[in-house]
Amino acid sequence: MTDELAPKLEQQFEGVAASPGIAMGPVFFIGADVVTVEKKTLTPQDVDQEVVKFAHALESAKSDLQQLVEKTSLSIGIDSAKIFEIHQLLLEDVMIVDETVRRIREEHMNADQAFLEVMEHFEVSMESIEGEYLKARAADIRDVKRRVIRKIQGDVRPNLKKLKDPAIIFAKELTPSDTVNLERNKVLGFAMDFGGRTSHAAIMARSIKVPSVVGLKKTGNLLHTGDFVILDGNSGILIINPNPETITQYKKRFSDFRNIQRKLEHLKNLPTRTLDGKNIELSANIEFPEEAKSVREYGGFGVGLFRTEYLYLTKDELPSEEMQFKEYVRILQALGDQPAIIRTFDLGGDKVPHTITLPPEANPFLGARGIRLYRDGGADLFKTQLRAIVRASVHGKVRIMFPMISCVTEIRYCQSMLNEVKQELLQEGIAFSDNIPVGAMIEVPSAAMVADMIARECDFLSIGTNDLVQYTLAVDRGNEHIAYLYRPYNPAVLRLIKNTIDKGHKNGVWVGICGEMASDPLMTMIFIGMGMDEFSVSPVSLLIMKEIIRRVECNECIMLADQITGFSTPGEIEGFLRELMKTRFQDLSLLF
Ligand code: PEP
Ligand code: MG
Repeated sequence: MTDELAPKLEQQFEGVAASPGIAMGPVFFIGADVVTVEKKTLTPQDVDQEVVKFAHALESAKSDLQQLVEKTSLSIGIDSAKIFEIHQLLLEDVMIVDETVRRIREEHMNADQAFLEVMEHFEVSMESIEGEYLKARAADIRDVKRRVIRKIQGDVRPNLKKLKDPAIIFAKELTPSDTVNLERNKVLGFAMDFGGRTSHAAIMARSIKVPSVVGLKKTGNLLHTGDFVILDGNSGILIINPNPETITQYKKRFSDFRNIQRKLEHLKNLPTRTLDGKNIELSANIEFPEEAKSVREYGGFGVGLFRTEYLYLTKDELPSEEMQFKEYVRILQALGDQPAIIRTFDLGGDKVPHTITLPPEANPFLGARGIRLYRDGGADLFKTQLRAIVRASVHGKVRIMFPMISCVTEIRYCQSMLNEVKQELLQEGIAFSDNIPVGAMIEVPSAAMVADMIARECDFLSIGTNDLVQYTLAVDRGNEHIAYLYRPYNPAVLRLIKNTIDKGHKNGVWVGICGEMASDPLMTMIFIGMGMDEFSVSPVSLLIMKEIIRRVECNECIMLADQITGFSTPGEIEGFLRELMKTRFQDLSLLF
């Protein structure tokens, strides 16, 4: 029997459950190194423009490479950085550049196709020469080829808009901007070798409401487009070539999950209130303005976190005040009388738009990120966004929130910029609401420690546990290799959360939670017991949260929150909660 005829064996892989649900279907595989180019014939008028596009792409690729040279020299050493210097030299090779321009001008070829052909020609000649050194140079050529083509195409990495049939997307790594380009109605689910539950690609999966498993390490090496898989986003499992029994078993799980979802639908218009009458604000996290209209549909009350970064990541130019204003108004209009918390941009870390050049950093998550970009050169960008938000305030209930606050000075700075913006708008005679609540995200441990001082400077606090966990435990939230250490149930994290709630309340502000921990049904009773006022969760989790909240009493939650302070390890806490919730909510046990 040839390999092709042999029955394919079922293989199971465990990753991190990133978005709930079960999907079955063929894989659409995106290798990190795939670029797709379509040959086009230019009209004579477009030729000059195409040459300019090519020149810009070269410049931009060279400048990225320069950054890589500097970054690599600092972090790994000068020798390792040499590789990128070689790549830079390739981009200065007259033959490559001239031949590409010739093809554009004389053959009216689109720039990406012209460059692809020239580089492939070069690559073949290198590969045919004997010797390891030159073979390695062929790999460099491929790398440079992909880099420039992506630049010409506007850094749209894999062309996910071209997805023809429904599929489960598998990628080694999807960037936040890739996920934005997904043809959403064709995506059954998505899986990734990299990442943890709170990496931004996982958050995106939840926002497009498809099952997802991330952190599958090297599973991608075994997959090809067209392979049949089952993706279990509830337990974080990917099954390649499932056998018939597994398919039957998963079909049953799929229908059980669907039944739970259907059973919860009646909750949509019911209040989020505990059995003993405590109202909890249950709102949604959104990444795109168009999601706002589905918040009510999914049973939520308003938006507790609009991550505005996607306005910056999806465009080829920085979003103007007018463009942002329109997007914010769109959200507010969709919500009617419900509030929207608009978080000012939290760029940096793994969310760097190609419209902004940041200096190379060895530790971007500890570097220029979030509010740290609002000073000096970033002050204008910050003010533009604040103007758009403040102007939008006459169209609905706006709340503003600042990310990555680590001390009182920073929240004061943000407040002073906001006041400046309001003064400017007053002078220009532009209307805005005189009641825009301002909040600080508590996602850096130092902020959680001085939550009382920060609370005195604003109107509400919202706990961003995705970062709070990462910074408290010194565990990169997106690193699949140490995902086992990323434990939100760590008592240190729980103490910081409790401290934030207590200090916020003592200083007269309400406290919410908008990190992914808010969507964890194991934690709902604990947070209620700690006194949390607001939960902002992924829309897919709204109804489940509402169901749990409506079936508990505050007193039992307070006792439970007290009881878990007796445990010393995340494992003990998780194990205890899982058992408890499975027994307490037997009909929902699939979710715990
Ligand atoms: C968080 O850190 O918990 C949070 C909500 O912000 P983001 O995930 O966008 O960093
Ligand atoms: Mg955060």
